[in-house]
Amino acid sequence: MATKHKGRAIGIDLGTTYSCVAAWEEQNGRAEIIVNDQGNRTTPSFVAFTDQRLIGDAAKNQAASNPSNTIFDAKRLIGRKYKDPAIECDLKLWPFKVVSGADDKPMIKVNYKGKEKCLAAEEISSMILSKMKEIAEAYLDFSLKNAVITVPAYFNDSQRKATKDAGVIAGLNVMRIINEPTAAALAYGLQKRANCSEKRNVFIFDLGGGTFDVSLVTIEDGVFEVKATAGDTHLGGEDFDNRMVRHFVQEFKRKNRVDISGDPRALRRLRNGCEKAKRILSHANDTTIEIDALFQGIDFRFSITRARFEDLNRDLFEKCMEISQNCLDDAKMEKREVHDVVLVGGSSRIPKVQSLLEKFFQRYNLCKSINPDEAVAYGAAIQAAMLSESYSIVPNMVLVDVTPLSLGIATHGDLMGVVIPRNTAIPVKMDGVFQTIEDHQPTASFPVYEGERTKAGENNLLGLFHLSGLPRVPRGHPMNVIFELDYDGILKVCAVDETTGNKNGITITNEKGRLSSAEIKRMIEEAAFFKEEDKKFKKMVKAKNALDDYIYRMEKAMKGFDVSSKLSPSEKETIMSKFRKGKRMLESEEHNEAAVFENYLKRLQKMCQPIVINKVRDYSDEDTD
Ligand code: AMP
Repeated sequence: MATKHKGRAIGIDLGTTYSCVAAWEEQNGRAEIIVNDQGNRTTPSFVAFTDQRLIGDAAKNQAASNPSNTIFDAKRLIGRKYKDPAIECDLKLWPFKVVSGADDKPMIKVNYKGKEKCLAAEEISSMILSKMKEIAEAYLDFSLKNAVITVPAYFNDSQRKATKDAGVIAGLNVMRIINEPTAAALAYGLQKRANCSEKRNVFIFDLGGGTFDVSLVTIEDGVFEVKATAGDTHLGGEDFDNRMVRHFVQEFKRKNRVDISGDPRALRRLRNGCEKAKRILSHANDTTIEIDALFQGIDFRFSITRARFEDLNRDLFEKCMEISQNCLDDAKMEKREVHDVVLVGGSSRIPKVQSLLEKFFQRYNLCKSINPDEAVAYGAAIQAAMLSESYSIVPNMVLVDVTPLSLGIATHGDLMGVVIPRNTAIPVKMDGVFQTIEDHQPTASFPVYEGERTKAGENNLLGLFHLSGLPRVPRGHPMNVIFELDYDGILKVCAVDETTGNKNGITITNEKGRLSSAEIKRMIEEAAFFKEEDKKFKKMVKAKNALDDYIYRMEKAMKGFDVSSKLSPSEKETIMSKFRKGKRMLESEEHNEAAVFENYLKRLQKMCQPIVINKVRDYSDEDTD
């Protein structure tokens, strides 16, 4: 059993398009979804850079006017290489720039305060995580460190670790990374706990903004055992939006003979329109997208039917069913043995997805009773409470999760020698015997891979280590390789030569593409810098508003005031000129220090104070400018 952490804890669903945070409420015996400063229960996973940094709703709201500096979809990039074919297509549609950095790591280019900055996906995700932390802290009224963060079940080792790194950069103690469908199963199990004493096989169908996950979970006497999991880390609502965007780019071209595909602002506006239309098509049969002056002054006005939308995405919807079948096959379970099919993720609201699923399971009672947008954060909060000392009344539930991908070593001929097969319950320790391939071989190499391909090279290389000092013996000398997978799904590998006792191994922490501890340190410092800058900006806006407000009120007061009897025309002009100067300061871009505005306000107050109390003085000698 894992050790418990000190201090209260939250659960964060770090989504591709929206994120959600929840905390366990002991008095009520349930998790509470925490609303953000806009009163919303989910927060857009958006970060924008202007003369300030915006996160969440504020960032999303200005996306159309600042497309190249408004970043979303960081989750699609996290833990991947720039050359990854999965992001090749996205690159063309993103209005922001992504370049290849060291070790082919994708880096997002933004312009912040007139300067170019390159940010890793981990940094963008860390900004979203710190926003979620702030939302929780504001609501709970205490500062927090501990969190459980969810990831798609199908996230590989580097995607999981990169997410954990993002948490560290955000100043969080990531107690556990858990799989999204497993979290949803916890939420479902808690809500249904009254009738959970008998064994239930629950199929979690989680179709979100960027990822698709399915899991088959067996719930019995409070034990949640994941039997199998499958998915696609690059399939979700945004792909459906993309299909619609591409369709309308063509339609617009056909009708107006202009191509908007190179215009980020137009694409962003069209994407917003498509996303809204998609949601409408979940309850209406058709809808019209209207965007004024989309490109070169030409208005956009096109209709789309639900049938057309379904047609554009047919193959993607069908792919969801294929993956569901794979999951059942892996769990060795028949469709009819599944008791409940639970819908999770915003895109599970799409009627065609639901009807395909009903047909697939030959049942018409899909479970929609848990909120698909909130179930994952809800479950993460339950897990967070289970891992924290601060909660005494936590549901008595035990979670047994599985590894989504097989793990092994490349053997002679580039064959994948699996040590831990996929869907093995974690944490787990397993070993395998590997042999030298040459006579008198002094050193053996151990390339560690994850994936299902027989040819190791086609799987994902996690790291490489060597074992030296082998005895000078003919080939076939055995070495024992031990794989240890922890609760987060993070791997340690070690090889031992029993004859000499020689040992070597790696914790897969610093493989290429992953952040080094120095980089994490730098990013933590940078996060603090951003935070300080945000604070400075807020202070400056406050000071500017106070000055603006004062000038406005005093000008009004001066107009209503019997000035002629109290002030000479030249005195009046002196004061008015100070107000004009103040307004120019407010409008110009020159000043960005709060102190400049605060000082000017103080001077104005000092100058106007006598007027307010109906006394006239000579102000001219106070003006030192
Ligand atoms: P999630 O990652 O679970 O927050 O899901 C977000 C995705 O769900 C986005 O792509 C949304 O466009 C999509 N979505 C939310 N509501 C609906 C709806 N009513 N119909 C279709 N898609 C939706």
